[in-house]
Amino acid sequence: MVYAFFIGHWLLSVLFQSLFLHRYAAHRMYNMSPRGEKVMHFLCWFVQGSSYLSPRGYAILHREHHAFSDTEQDPHAPGFYPNALAMMWKTKKRYDDYAHYRADPEPRFLGGYPEWKLIDQTLGQSWAMRVLWGVVYTAFYFTFATHWWQIAFMLPFHFVMGPVHGAIVNWCGHKYGYRNFDNADRSRNTLPIDVLTMGELFQNNHHKFGASPNFAAKWFEIDPTWQVMRVLHALGAIQVRAPESQVLPEPLRHAA
Ligand SMILES: [Zn+2]
Ligand SMILES: [Zn+2]
Repeated sequence: MVYAFFIGHWLLSVLFQSLFLHRYAAHRMYNMSPRGEKVMHFLCWFVQGSSYLSPRGYAILHREHHAFSDTEQDPHAPGFYPNALAMMWKTKKRYDDYAHYRADPEPRFLGGYPEWKLIDQTLGQSWAMRVLWGVVYTAFYFTFATHWWQIAFMLPFHFVMGPVHGAIVNWCGHKYGYRNFDNADRSRNTLPIDVLTMGELFQNNHHKFGASPNFAAKWFEIDPTWQVMRVLHALGAIQVRAPESQVLPEPLRHAA
């Protein structure tokens, strides 16, 4: 039971990061009805729980990442840090400034992302709510865990699922793996079939084709989130936009 919960929480949390925060809030790769957007926004908060990220904070930070990839202005370039933890700590501070409206970025990075005060501020980023999520995860483990080490080593991951995904994608995706394209940055494709982070580790492909909703580029690559998008598109829940019809600042289309 705890394994199913762990795998389910891991995959759903990173799916909503990729599908909603990354491909919708930051890139607008598809359209949704206002009601569909609200449903997706709520589900994103629900599955990410204690480590929910606001679309505004995520989108601004990510647009900066595309525009300044692997330079000193990049909010998370592994080349400038001794380890993933140091990098993520710095990233968190910059994210907080944008998520809590404490700082404004360059105007070209603003706008086009959903904002919902109840979810983003009141529920999503309050410590009372984070602690409450922690209590829920802990109660689940104390009810269903069959070994003490599940509580010691698996439970803590649920509290910080979002930052763990962020560290894997932002550190490994610009450090380990192969390159299909010379992007003038250090982006890499870490896995050819990315079930670990639902397609987010195709950083090299994504930095080359910033507007492509499918992060896989070669025949042997599979991007799971794109497969989910195809199903949602076929069902009419979302309308995937062709790369040419996406109205995005230049750095988001093509970083090279
Ligand atoms: Zn992106
Ligand atoms: Zn990247």
